Amino acid sequence: MSDDSVFEKAKNHSLDNEVEILTSKNCGCYFCRSIFSAREITDWDYEDGHTQALCPKCGMASVIGDASGFPIEKEFLKEMNLRYYGPDYIRSHPEAATVYLDRYFGGKVTHNEKNEKLAISYLKTLVDAKDARAAIALGALYESGGHFSKPDLAKAEAVYSLPFLKGNSKALARLGSLYLNGYVGKLSRWQAFEAIMKSAVANDFEGIFYLANCYFDGFYVDADPEYAFGLLYDVFPEVYDKFLLNRQDSVDFVDFTYGIGGCLHEGLGTQKDDDRALRYFLMAELAIRNKTNNSGEIDPIGDKIREKISDIAIPLGLHKSEMVFDQDTFYDSFSEGNQSNERKRLVKAIYDSQTQVCEMTIAFDKPVIMVDEGSLNAEVVHGETNWRFTGVVRYEGPESGEFTGVISPSEGIWIFIDEEKEGPVAFMFFDAPYNEGEAE
Ligand SMILES: [Zn+2]
Repeated sequence: MSDDSVFEKAKNHSLDNEVEILTSKNCGCYFCRSIFSAREITDWDYEDGHTQALCPKCGMASVIGDASGFPIEKEFLKEMNLRYYGPDYIRSHPEAATVYLDRYFGGKVTHNEKNEKLAISYLKTLVDAKDARAAIALGALYESGGHFSKPDLAKAEAVYSLPFLKGNSKALARLGSLYLNGYVGKLSRWQAFEAIMKSAVANDFEGIFYLANCYFDGFYVDADPEYAFGLLYDVFPEVYDKFLLNRQDSVDFVDFTYGIGGCLHEGLGTQKDDDRALRYFLMAELAIRNKTNNSGEIDPIGDKIREKISDIAIPLGLHKSEMVFDQDTFYDSFSEGNQSNERKRLVKAIYDSQTQVCEMTIAFDKPVIMVDEGSLNAEVVHGETNWRFTGVVRYEGPESGEFTGVISPSEGIWIFIDEEKEGPVAFMFFDAPYNEGEAE
């Protein structure tokens, strides 16, 4: 048996190894080369229909138990490590580096100095192979700094300027934003603006966000807050959809909700409207919840968002509590202001004129964001939701149907509308004037 096949066979024992690990005494990880008791393994990965033990030391799925019959010794693990994670192997198997990086940036691999260095070296290997996604990630790491390395904007600029990224809208946005954020590197002021402009024209959300900032700040152009606000507001429905497709990728969504909320709160480029501002801030808070940045710390923008929420909530006497599926939440979520034009299915509407209660079951074919100002909450929901509206003096509408949103032409009246159809879907009349954003 050749060396290759021995190692290849050993590697197979890190896959679907649940029984083997449970019957092993000692295990070894050929990623971090640790040896530990099989009892220490508590985490498992269930991706792609395979079960894999995760290393208790580093979090990688590279664990072999001694029940496999392979020697769980330093020398053997070192050999395995060089074969499957060494520079030569990574150069010819870039997908192995990608797996590690996804796990590392997904917070599944322990963030220590050694693992961060490895992440950077893998990124560099992929960048050498002209991998644009890796280049953007490496640039971002240089920009914000890692847990164990300081920010280095010159290095970030050098990465974003790599010839193979020429015309890459993400790289252009980042390159221009370095200047916009106060770093003067190799670009002139005009080149920085041009990079942002090109990125925005390519419909990159980051590019559009920075272009709006140019117009807010009067960077290279005359300041024009109305135009800047319009840039953010007009593209927001797309940003919203993108976020709901992949909630891990929340950077643009946070930038836009925080930015639009800020404009509404300050009356910058638009009418001041704290009710609507609060909705955007609550959506931003939803996106940032439990999120960590590159260095594994809670993202500092979370504090800024919560500060804005308090600014608006305290004078209104609002406190954070459980989300209630009542008329406030319904109106906050589906009226003008949230851009939520998703199609909603009215599965069932039951109206009782005696109790003046209307109960509705509404289904969403894709996830949507619910905002409840009263409880200072926003949540992503999908599937069926049950609503209870009280004080309803009349309901005129079907028992089931479809709608896209609700408008309130005057206090105490709701009209359910369908953007693609003419005429209203349903009417609801309340006994007391509906008071938006009022505390419980
Ligand atoms: Zn390990």
